[in-house]
Amino acid sequence: MQDVVSGRCLCGNVEYSIENDFLFLLFCHCEQCRRISGSAHASNLFSATQSLTWLKGEENIQRFDYPGRDFTKSFCRMCGCGLPYRSSHGEMVIVPAGTLDGEPKFAKHGKVFLAECTEWTHSTADAKLFDGFPDFWARRRFINTRANVTSEPNTEPVQVADFVWRRVPDPLPFF
Ligand SMILES: [Zn+2]
Ligand SMILES: [Zn+2]
Repeated sequence: MQDVVSGRCLCGNVEYSIENDFLFLLFCHCEQCRRISGSAHASNLFSATQSLTWLKGEENIQRFDYPGRDFTKSFCRMCGCGLPYRSSHGEMVIVPAGTLDGEPKFAKHGKVFLAECTEWTHSTADAKLFDGFPDFWARRRFINTRANVTSEPNTEPVQVADFVWRRVPDPLPFF
């Protein structure tokens, strides 16, 4: 029995499956992949198995082919999430790795087009690590909740680890 992995978009309107047998996983830092992904790099798996199967919602897929160049974005019309697509020559299927439900199996992996990498991408190397939101965000939410109840603005700076976060009386709308 073939090892098959499934994937889906964020809203769940589109689901697919594909053989879990990828040639490579590429983290592409080129300018186009940066814009397509809205992030430091794209994380794409390449499959030559011709086994991509849409389980539901194929009619919700929108495809954009960059004029004159071999860049494509396939995405869910409902939530904008990236989705697999067939290369322009049809021999390869490119799968945005983050849309998989399970762990992919790939033969090779690499970071490519580092020459086009941004300065801020390098800052991830020494970025502080947290399992969830940073402590100071959680603390700030608590402080804001408390401020709402007691109406006690507190402008003393809060020191958490290496961060200094200045308390302000007005809560941010999203914390
Ligand atoms: Zn969706
Ligand atoms: Zn790229």
